[in-house]
This record gives sequence, structure tokens and C-alpha cells, in this order.
Amino acid sequence: MEIYDVIVVGAGPVGLATAIGLRQRGIKNILVLDQTRAFRQVGHTVDLLPNGLKALKCLENKAYEAVKQNGMKFSSPPSTDNQGQKSASNSPEWLYKNLQGETIRSIPLSFDSWFANYGGGRVSIAWYELQTALRKLLPPEQVKANHRCVDVIEQPEIGCVRVDCVCDMGTDENPYAHWQEMTPVENPDTVSSPSASKSFQAKLVVGADGINSTVRRVIYEDTDYAAFSKPEYSGFTAIICRNIDNLPQDLVKQLEKKYIGDGRIVTIVSGAENPRMMLFRRGIGNFGYIIHAALTWESVQDKSGSALIELGLKAIETANFPDLIQQLVRISPSENMQQRPYYIHRASTSNALQLPPTAHVTSNTDKEQIEPAWSHGRIVLVGDAAHGMPPFMAQGTNQGFEDALAIATLITNLQLNDNQAIATAWKKYEHLRRPSMIYMQQATLSPVIHSSQRDLQSYNQRVYGRDFEKVISTLL
Ligand SMILES: Cc1cc2nc3c(=O)[nH]c(=O)nc-3n(C[C@H](O)[C@H](O)[C@H](O)COP(=O)(O)OP(=O)(O)OC[C@H]3O[C@@H](n4cnc5c(N)ncnc54)[C@H](O)[C@@H]3O)c2cc1C
Repeated sequence: MEIYDVIVVGAGPVGLATAIGLRQRGIKNILVLDQTRAFRQVGHTVDLLPNGLKALKCLENKAYEAVKQNGMKFSSPPSTDNQGQKSASNSPEWLYKNLQGETIRSIPLSFDSWFANYGGGRVSIAWYELQTALRKLLPPEQVKANHRCVDVIEQPEIGCVRVDCVCDMGTDENPYAHWQEMTPVENPDTVSSPSASKSFQAKLVVGADGINSTVRRVIYEDTDYAAFSKPEYSGFTAIICRNIDNLPQDLVKQLEKKYIGDGRIVTIVSGAENPRMMLFRRGIGNFGYIIHAALTWESVQDKSGSALIELGLKAIETANFPDLIQQLVRISPSENMQQRPYYIHRASTSNALQLPPTAHVTSNTDKEQIEPAWSHGRIVLVGDAAHGMPPFMAQGTNQGFEDALAIATLITNLQLNDNQAIATAWKKYEHLRRPSMIYMQQATLSPVIHSSQRDLQSYNQRVYGRDFEKVISTLL
């Protein structure tokens, strides 16, 4: 059996970025395995922010350029001046408004505004487009679809890890998936045909298989950390209404006047920030929304569309959202309703992270104990497999790119036969990345939108303002 230097399990953005970074640094004997039968149009829009883009640029400039190239192009909605003339403003913005309709934050959407402030831009891109742009930078024979990893087995006697996969079978339903599962007719993964097993060997394995990671499960099971092998419910759920057609004209006018103006999206937040509503325009007279609310897991499970409307209504009524918004929710078509609970792999399992009381926390580690490590022997976890979290600060992929940069740098400087050096490398990785992730997860669970200008600036500098050449020099 061929022995690869590195096998990456998972061809999501973080696994692919890691593989690209390794190749760029001369480690070319690699393989990326993904369970999907065929790479296909799935997933949501991902905002890449200065830290993620800077890390990607450091990993490989071509990857950064490809992502920039494939990002969405924003055009500014025309704004109306005092004379009622429409003119295009320079930088389109995402506004955050309070319940009274006053703007409390405006976030520029253009690449250039972010670049000017933090030396790194901002790109919005569909998950699938991001995956495709990165995948195209790797030789096709090094990225294999239709290989679902079912086990990883350490082989200390030969300094390797065996990765067992199954091929030619439908994927399991993934309750934690970041994307809407397709219907059996649309989804080639559900075609059942005889399955085959295949095994591969590598000196190192990078587990980049997302929040429902098999690699994570395998390295934690039968250890004291078995409870952390599955994601925990974060306490937050999104209640989504995909579309409301033909809203009454006067409701549209009021929504426009008070909240959304000519724009495509606005976030409406109550003082306590729980719940928040993202209101988006789907077309003329058509709107959709997402309510992010702290809800118990039981309250959202197996709920019909009308029950979700009731839940959403209750959440916004309790937070005193005005009648206008309540009317919008009340007339949502029940067939267009969805819910999406958000899960987390906590970067700190002690009290350092405050989750809402609605969270389902499996267990806390004793303060004296160390956190469940992001590695075991020759296996290391990156991206959502290590620290998946709700998307409120748009940082999952961005943080994952920071992991990819750290891991590609460390592996490049490793003697792959030296167990002690491997253990030290993984320690350095966690030493760098875990404190950042604890900070990021806390910011996600209690967002900084209402914080003072000073706190916000300090967050922005801490997250976006870093120089990644300097960051990785600390690893060497
Ligand atoms: C609604 C929403 C909006 C978001 N918005 C943003 C945003 O604006 N900005 C941002 O930075 N992040 C955002 N995120 C988070 C972001 O999507 C994730 O953090 C990111 O996709 C993680 O990348 P990953 O490569 O670690 O995992 P994933 O993207 O989950 O990829 C994992 C890959 O592994 C494969 N895989 C899984 N299991 C196996 C297996 N057993 N064997 C082989 N392959 C396997 C999967 O098929 C997949 O291709 C958002 C998330 C959600 C839900």
C-alpha cells in the first residue's frame, strides 16, 4: 500500500486549504478524501473576512486570488438624496438596526473598505464556489470524492495511520450539516449500490471532516473525552422563513421605511440581542427572514411549520419586537418554514465559556483536567472538526483557514518519523489556536454588536488586524 505523507479527511474549505498549503511548501505526496459522491452545489454563503483571507494568502497566493475572483460582486443599492434623486453610493453596507429602526452598526460589504482598515479584504462566496475554487488548485487525482472515512487506526509499529473508507454507498444523513440536505431524487448520494471498502496509509492524518467529524469521534471514543466526540447543542436555533410572496403593499412600505430601505438585508436586534432577525429581500414585494434565538433543543425538534411560526412569534413578542415585525412573522407560509439548531465543539469545556441556559452541554471537564486535545498520535483535527460553532460572527471558515496555515507550517518543518517532534508540533498548534478559539467562541455566543465602540475596535483589531507572517514565525 502506498504510504502518503499526509491524508486530509474532508474536502471542505479547511481541508482543501490545508492540502494547498502543504503542496505549496513542497509536501506533495498527499491525498484528500471526501465522502460526497460527487462535488455538488450545496451550502450557504460564507463571508471571508480579513483574518481568513490573510491566512489564505499566506498559505498560497493563488488560492487567495482564486477566492477573490469567484466571490460575489456587490453593487450598491441606489440611495435617495435630499432632492429625491437616486444615486449609487460607493460602498454597499449591511446595516444593524435597533427595534426603533435606528442604525446601530453598519458593516461595509466591499473588499476595499476592509482592506483599507485591516490589510485584508472581505469576500462573500457560496460554500460550493469556495470549495470548487480551492479544489481546482489541487491535482484531480489527489482529491477523491466518494470515499467516506469510517475509521482511523494508528499503526505505531510502522509510524503510520490507516484510514478506512467506504465507497459507492449513500452517505448517512448528517443532522449537523451546514447545508440543506437534498431530496432523494436530487441527491446522487442516496443512490444505493453495493459498497466497497478501501484503506489508505499515511504518516499523518488531518481530520477536516466538519462538525460531525468521524475522525474526532474515533480519537475520543474509549477515552475520558468520549462525551466530546459529538457536537453539543449551543442553545441557539435559527427559525427560517425562506420566502413570503406578495406581502401587502403597506407592510412592504413600512418595512422599507423603518428597516430595510432599498437594501437587500438588514439585521434587527433587540437590546439583549436575543433574538435577532435578519430580514432579507427576495424580489419585488417578497421577503424572507431568519430569527436567531436562544431556544431549548426540545422546543424546536420535529416542529411543523406553523409551530415554528408560533415559536418565532413568541421569541420576538417577548423581546418587544414591534407589531410590524410580528405581522410579518404571523403571515409566513408554514410550508416555507425551517429550523436549524446550531452546534458547537467547545474550545474550552470549563467555565471559561458561557453558554445560554438553553444549551445542552454534555459534561464539563474538571478544572484540574486538561481539555480534550485536538490531536492524538499522528492525527490532528482542524476547522469545524476541532471547534465548530454557530455562525453569528462569520468566523468558522476564517478560523479554519488560520488552523490550516498553522498546521501546514508545522508539518512542513517536521521529521515525519519523529514521534516526539510530532507531539511538540501539535502542542504548538493548540498553544497558538486554542486561546483564539475560546475568545472567538465567547464573542460568538455573546456578540459584540451592542458593545462600546472601544470594545468593538479591540475585537476588530484582535481578530482582523494580525500580521500572519508574524503569527506563524512564533511556530518556528
Ligand atoms: C448558515 C451558516 C452560515 C455560515 N457563515 C459563515 C461565514 O459567513 N463565514 C465563516 O467563516 N463561516 C461561516 N459558517 C461556518 C462555516 O461554514 C464552517 O465553519 C466551515 O464550512 C468549516 O469548514 P470545514 O472544512 O472545517 O468543514 P465543512 O465545511 O463542514 O467540510 C467538511 C467536509 O468533510 C466531508 N466529510 C464529512 N465527513 C466525512 C467523512 N467521514 N469522510 C470523508 N469526508 C467527510 C464533507 O463532505 C465536507 O466536504 C457558516 C455556517 C452556517 C451553518
